[in-house]
Amino acid sequence: MKTLVYSSHGFDKPFLKASKGLHEMDFVEKRLSIETVFLAEGYQAVALFSSDNASEEVLKKLNELGIKYIALRSVGYDNVDLNTAKSLGIKVANVPAYSPYAIAEHSVALLMALNRKLLLGQDLMKSGDYRLDHLIGFDLYDKTVGVVGTGKIGAAFTQIMNGFGCKLLGYDIEINDELVQSTNIKYTSLEELCMHSDVISINCPLNEQTKYLFNKTIFSKMKKGVVFINTARGGVVNTNDLIEAIELGIIGAAGLDVYENEKPIFFFDHTNSPINDDLFLKLKSYDNVLITGHQAFLTNEALKGITDTTIENLNSWEEKGYSVNEIC
Ligand code: NAD
Repeated sequence: MKTLVYSSHGFDKPFLKASKGLHEMDFVEKRLSIETVFLAEGYQAVALFSSDNASEEVLKKLNELGIKYIALRSVGYDNVDLNTAKSLGIKVANVPAYSPYAIAEHSVALLMALNRKLLLGQDLMKSGDYRLDHLIGFDLYDKTVGVVGTGKIGAAFTQIMNGFGCKLLGYDIEINDELVQSTNIKYTSLEELCMHSDVISINCPLNEQTKYLFNKTIFSKMKKGVVFINTARGGVVNTNDLIEAIELGIIGAAGLDVYENEKPIFFFDHTNSPINDDLFLKLKSYDNVLITGHQAFLTNEALKGITDTTIENLNSWEEKGYSVNEIC
């Protein structure tokens, strides 16, 4: 199938090139947007990433250009207007699971780096300052960790934290029975989870219900000094309110792999093009905030898993006209 891969970078292109088989695949680094949609002319399918914008306006244009299929190279699909895609008859499939461990382990990496002040320790080490006075962390053992969204990634994260000897609280619209059997997790309301957790990890999707789930009101319920980790989607958190919670000392440290307005920033080199986003610059300025640029998924295993399912989706559409991973 003739496919244009948007938002393709050095980290994923080799995987796709190696697995594309007979599919005719072209690659562009640019994100899909109303400005770049014209590039899809002459293709049957586009392969998109979380940074691409398949809004109503863009989908209508893709439809005019003859695009029949959208193969998402991601779990999340908050960047696609599924209602419009459905009404236009464009089929969309995602990668429902690749390596939940990649993202869960990155959440743990953020947590550990913040708690044990690894970046500050490294800076001091490099400068020849071997004092420990500013590097005190806390034992995770016996602390309470709240997991918001206990699906595949949240469950993998919960299992790891269970291994650390943490007490576990969960909040989800569906109880994960297997997790209840295999860990000490107790489900509770979001408010209770926030009131009792020393660490909070967000692992739910971004949708109408979860947009700004973390806002001023919910931050005000949290234990002072909580470590707040978000590897899910930036839009689940109201960044303005997060900044206020950091300033008030409610958030003791924040580990963020995602940011609500990340699309024009992440995945590109901005060393020679200043970022005009005061909110992001403010967030970046705090010593107790560790930001990674949407790299939680970035392991060899995950990249292989994403590629395999993307190609499987294209194969199924070509051979059978449908894919088991269709979301519309
Ligand atoms: P999943 O579907 O297996 O799990 C999501 C869980 O969230 C489910 O248990 C679901 O019931 C729960 N949920 C849904 N709505 C909720 C709500 N309103 N309140 C509380 N819980 C709710 O998905 P997953 O594979 O675990 O992925 C979770 C999210 O992680 C994805 O949607 C994606 O946005 C994000 N993600 C980020 C990266 C990254 O690199 N940073 C990579 C992959 C996925």
